[in-house]
Amino acid sequence: MDDDDEEMVIIGAGICGLATAVALNKKGIKSVVMEKSESLRNVTGAAIGIRQNGWRALDQLGVADILRPTAISLQRERMVLLKEGKQQQSSMIGETRCLRRKDLLNTLYDALPPDTVKFGCQLKSIKLNLTTNKPVLRFINGRSIIAKVVIGCEGGRSIVAEYLNVKPTKMFPSCNVRGVTNCPNGHSFDAEFVRFRSDNNLVGRIPIDDKSVYWFCGHPYIPGDERIWEDSEVIRQSTLKLLSGYPQQIQDMIENADTESLIFSKLRYRAPWDLLTGTFCKGTVTVAGDAMHVMGPFLGQGGSAGLEDAVVPARNMAQLGLDSERKITVKGVEEAFNMYVKQRRMRVVRLSLQTYVTGMLVVSSGLKKVAFVMLLAVLFSNKNGHVDYDCGGL
Ligand SMILES: Cc1cc2nc3c(=O)[nH]c(=O)nc-3n(C[C@H](O)[C@H](O)[C@H](O)COP(=O)(O)OP(=O)(O)OC[C@H]3O[C@@H](n4cnc5c(N)ncnc54)[C@H](O)[C@@H]3O)c2cc1C
Repeated sequence: MDDDDEEMVIIGAGICGLATAVALNKKGIKSVVMEKSESLRNVTGAAIGIRQNGWRALDQLGVADILRPTAISLQRERMVLLKEGKQQQSSMIGETRCLRRKDLLNTLYDALPPDTVKFGCQLKSIKLNLTTNKPVLRFINGRSIIAKVVIGCEGGRSIVAEYLNVKPTKMFPSCNVRGVTNCPNGHSFDAEFVRFRSDNNLVGRIPIDDKSVYWFCGHPYIPGDERIWEDSEVIRQSTLKLLSGYPQQIQDMIENADTESLIFSKLRYRAPWDLLTGTFCKGTVTVAGDAMHVMGPFLGQGGSAGLEDAVVPARNMAQLGLDSERKITVKGVEEAFNMYVKQRRMRVVRLSLQTYVTGMLVVSSGLKKVAFVMLLAVLFSNKNGHVDYDCGGL
């Protein structure tokens, strides 16, 4: 099969890949998105909390007002300490809503010109052709592309990140279960994000709208055949057993969760110290979203950070005058990507570090726990500071 020529190739049609294509398109730059699945992956992952920084990025992408009516605005955060019988509550800082992942993915997809996304195209390898100095992409389906520009947005197991020689991601010592419970007659929960904490576990509950509620909880890693976690009923029963000491209201929510929404995830992260030193662009190849900075869900910021990433390369390219296919030069793209990595590095280092320390705090005990509490207090005295970030205009 002959090699195809493409100017601007994005790998992965997840949140970040689609958002990156939308941003480029808004700047008049055409791209093609290569996705391994046969259709948009809009049926997994249940829901996603989007904080103010994420809404700022969605505003820039021009899709925020389509998404706002799909989810209620959360007014309050509450932490319930079950063992101690205490609770603390505070007003929600900034716009926060919990979107159905399918609404987010469908909306970004619909904002793109038809045929931008090519399904059934799983990247197998990326190599630099030393004669042309262009990256050559090979796909499992036999297709191959000589690209001028590549942005790897294919998640935590990124082949493009490997090509950039970024250190491999690590596994977090706990897992996560999440789901959505639909209540056809409406639920009785306030517009608040509640975390219920007991021992070394935490259950979160966030209403999406008047009839649906998203929830998640930590789950220990159980060695054995991992395929058992593809069975929703195994996930439900294991979670119910784990949370048997939690209030009946929580158990009912899990008992009644939509079977298709239940998902068990092992948690992967890129170490904050590797983000500090890693090379995230080489020539006209870079990475964004989880491919760059996969992090645990403990701050609920991985997806929003990917939306922030998406705005930046398009803005830089336009600022350097690369705002149409004719004007895209290798030198210009290299400069735009170097600026992008510089602009994003410390933001994602801080987010990943706070996420890591917060996660370790939940799963550790004794002296280790004290150390993580102190680290968090010293490094992140404003624990909600991450929400106030503005990725800037497109
Ligand atoms: C339990 C849990 C809860 C979370 N909660 C939140 C939250 O509340 N708020 C928040 O902001 N973030 C949250 N996150 C993080 C968020 O889900 C991710 O940061 C986000 O989905 C990353 O988007 P992405 O597009 O970078 O990668 P992905 O969503 O992983 O998308 C990658 C895409 O690339 C495709 N792909 C993969 N490999 C290839 C290949 N070789 N070739 C072609 N295509 C490929 C995949 O099929 C997929 O479509 C959570 C994460 C977890 C695990």
